[in-house]
Amino acid sequence: FQHSRLKAAFTFQDVYMGLSPFEAPATFSMMAYTELAHGVWYPQGGMSRIVELLMEIALRAGVEFVFDAPVKRIDVNGTRASGVLLEDGRRLSADAVVANADLPYVYQNLLPPDHNAKRMARKRFSCSVVSFFWGVDQPYPQLGPHTLFLADDYRANFESIIHDLDLPENPSLYIHAPTRLDPATAPDGEETLIAIVPVGHLNETGSQDWRHIRDQARQAVFNRLSLLGITDLDTHIKFEVDYTPLSWRKRYNLMKGSTHGLSHNLRQLGYFRPRNRHARYHNLYFVGASTHPGTGVPTALVSARLVAQRIAEDHVVEDAASAYLRVKPYPVGEEI
Ligand SMILES: Cc1cc2nc3c(=O)[nH]c(=O)nc-3n(C[C@H](O)[C@H](O)[C@H](O)COP(=O)(O)OP(=O)(O)OC[C@H]3O[C@@H](n4cnc5c(N)ncnc54)[C@H](O)[C@@H]3O)c2cc1C
Repeated sequence: FQHSRLKAAFTFQDVYMGLSPFEAPATFSMMAYTELAHGVWYPQGGMSRIVELLMEIALRAGVEFVFDAPVKRIDVNGTRASGVLLEDGRRLSADAVVANADLPYVYQNLLPPDHNAKRMARKRFSCSVVSFFWGVDQPYPQLGPHTLFLADDYRANFESIIHDLDLPENPSLYIHAPTRLDPATAPDGEETLIAIVPVGHLNETGSQDWRHIRDQARQAVFNRLSLLGITDLDTHIKFEVDYTPLSWRKRYNLMKGSTHGLSHNLRQLGYFRPRNRHARYHNLYFVGASTHPGTGVPTALVSARLVAQRIAEDHVVEDAASAYLRVKPYPVGEEI
């Protein structure tokens, strides 16, 4: 394509990987094709429904869940992980430990200090986002399920996010109106809206004023919506939850508040991406966005499958739970 708007329309998908299209490996240009050829999918009941369904499968396999129990430390002994110590002082011993928290955080906070933690912290991290979750007392039919506003100065927009770790002046942003797809997400005659504004991740000095940046991002959303004739949104918001990179770090332990984990640039992909098993502690496995293969819910599920296969190979136990681990992936389109 020659026109800058077409170029933008077929490259902004790199943001799903936390990347600038000006630096993303060409492979990711397939994401635009995937969207056009296969569509964008929404799980009825929202993203949490995926978690609930996975939980049902796990419960049937005999898994026991312990909620609200943050892990303080992964205990190690020689070349093995022996279990975890919870924040509340309980200790759980284990034959294998799977860490799903952000990998650089695991190395830095949950494992004994070693060169890996320092190496991980020096890697490049993906961008972050400021997100707003709004409950609104009237519908806005001008908005489809997905609305994307792209910055006029597309390159400067990404420079600001990736290199200046800032909020661009007139940022690209995305609005999701889930009520179009799933009426259960709002009471009758009302609306739920989510606005996502990509921004830089936390810098080393802590000099970013996130309250100010959040307010600027909020205003940027209102400014863009006014182009669609929506000028009264702020007076119809019944409740609001917002997330900045500080919230992502505090709530989910995402290092630098990077919402897509370690960057997916060429030098941190595939063979170069941190492995999903610890080099020293052989029964310690990693799953999620910062390990193989990378970010995104489907990708994190692939990561989980890879780890499950590894564990099944490493721990050949003939019982019902291990049989579940060897279950082949569900064919595309089959309901779980
Ligand atoms: C605003 C936003 C919108 C997105 N939209 C999409 C989308 O539409 N489609 C898509 O595919 N992807 C989307 N993503 C990306 C997707 O959410 C992530 O890539 C995915 O959740 C990564 O999965 P994960 O398992 O690596 O990490 P997480 O989902 O973060 O899971 C890790 C879990 O570990 C827990 N944890 C951390 N530390 C500890 C500890 N010490 N003890 C116990 N537990 C701990 C965390 O609380 C968390 O629950 C979006 C991301 C954001 C921020």
